[in-house]
Amino acid sequence: MEVLESGNILSYRGRLAPTPSGYLHMGHARTFWWAQERALKCGGRLILRVEDLDGTRSKSEFLDAIMEDLWWFGFRWQEGPDIGGCRGPYRQSARFDRYREALERLIDRDLVYRCYCSRKDIQAAPQAPHAGDEGPLYPGTCRGNTGYETKGGQRPPSWRFRVPDGLRMSFDDRNLGSVSYVSGVDFGDFIVWRQDDMPAYQLAVTVDDHAMEITEVVRGEDLLLSTCRQLLLYRAFKWTVPGFFHCPLMTDNDGEKLSKRNRSVALRSFREQGIEPEQLRVRFGFDGVRF
Ligand code: GLU
Repeated sequence: MEVLESGNILSYRGRLAPTPSGYLHMGHARTFWWAQERALKCGGRLILRVEDLDGTRSKSEFLDAIMEDLWWFGFRWQEGPDIGGCRGPYRQSARFDRYREALERLIDRDLVYRCYCSRKDIQAAPQAPHAGDEGPLYPGTCRGNTGYETKGGQRPPSWRFRVPDGLRMSFDDRNLGSVSYVSGVDFGDFIVWRQDDMPAYQLAVTVDDHAMEITEVVRGEDLLLSTCRQLLLYRAFKWTVPGFFHCPLMTDNDGEKLSKRNRSVALRSFREQGIEPEQLRVRFGFDGVRF
């Protein structure tokens, strides 16, 4: 059982949130494994949520492969797109209305503004910005825009969250301990709704983690700054903040982060070679986590 600061006792609800834009590799498997171990240890539930908002990169063949590989590796979930559950649907592509409603709440309170700047829109894919993907801080060019106003003749805008300057965002990570960043210094105004009329990752993931009553988010430590952005969204919506547990990233022999393009570390490849999941867990140090 998870005891929240408020004294409320909630059943642990964790999640696996794969993006079906490629095959799962050992880095995903290790983060997911820790998520599953924590859910098991707390006697909780594990939710499989498919983050398939990026219609150009998400492919149904990858989704099928991911589900198959997860099952083969020993993952079991109690709610998900294949088995349903009371907090579904479990594919982000089927949850558009919820994201739109959340955006409108932010617009009504002037917490977001229309942004007509182009390059950042393109960078702000609905995928999580992993290490190395973080662009420069947004310079605030469109901050003066309010409400639904449009500028005639311009490309469609995206919506950006107004990040207060100089706010220290601190949280107690359940793996890393105290983590602290400063808004407006470490990260700036971020996109919550894309110029192609799709929710951005930060909004979608926050809306879903809240709606699915996730009590702890286990994810890679390359998403620490995203966690800070999401904390601002939790604050804006006055939602209970889940616990966070950030895992170290797995790197290759050259110290580089594993990539979906690297077939040699894909779960599929090991499976095709007849290697057993248990051997992989030992070889890739799955036991290294301190709970
Ligand atoms: N779908 C995201 C990813 O694959 C999940 C990030 C998260 O845990 O919020 O990176």
